[in-house]
Amino acid sequence: MKIIKTLALSASLLFASFTQAAFITTQEAALDSIFSQTSFGNMPIDIRIGAATELVFPDLLDITTDAEVSTLFGMHVGLPTVVNFYFVDTIDACGGFNPAIVGCGELPGNDFVVESTFAAGAFGGELLAHELGHNLGLAHLNGNFLMNPFLNGFTDLSAGEVNIIRNSPLVQTDGQSFWIDINPVLIVARATRPVSEPGVLLLFLLSVGFFWQKKRA
Ligand SMILES: [Zn+2]
Repeated sequence: MKIIKTLALSASLLFASFTQAAFITTQEAALDSIFSQTSFGNMPIDIRIGAATELVFPDLLDITTDAEVSTLFGMHVGLPTVVNFYFVDTIDACGGFNPAIVGCGELPGNDFVVESTFAAGAFGGELLAHELGHNLGLAHLNGNFLMNPFLNGFTDLSAGEVNIIRNSPLVQTDGQSFWIDINPVLIVARATRPVSEPGVLLLFLLSVGFFWQKKRA
């Protein structure tokens, strides 16, 4: 009876930690829509989301310094022409500390990072497209545009910006169509793995619970 109770308690901790943990939302349909808007004419750019990778880096789940951003981007997975978008719990640094930051991308480059909850929210497509825009060579542009430095509900790209995008080495073509390859990278506190044996399950749950309590301290 005691064991069952402990397991139930641990299970609730596990659930709590999973609702806190980073998760992937690719927003592929929203991205395709943004990269095929009117300014792209009859040459839309298809956003192709590839296989996800999971990296175990507990210290990078909550990013507070530019050095941590550099460490994250230094782990690029795959070819240089493949964009990595990293999903973390929180990011509060991108050229300086600011708690309002919810995403950060190399300009230009092939890595960007976003907060999981914002990527999954109403501004998710806008956020991912904005950071991808930096990777493609776009700077900030104040106003009702995608590249406005704050999320504003607008996803407009000018003809000039589309021209910059087309010249990015990230844009692939077979002569007929154009696309950008993106692989999601999920940052996790520990490897997700199947657990079946009760003793192992309990240890796993307890250590997850410890991490959760430590993080909230
Ligand atoms: Zn930006």
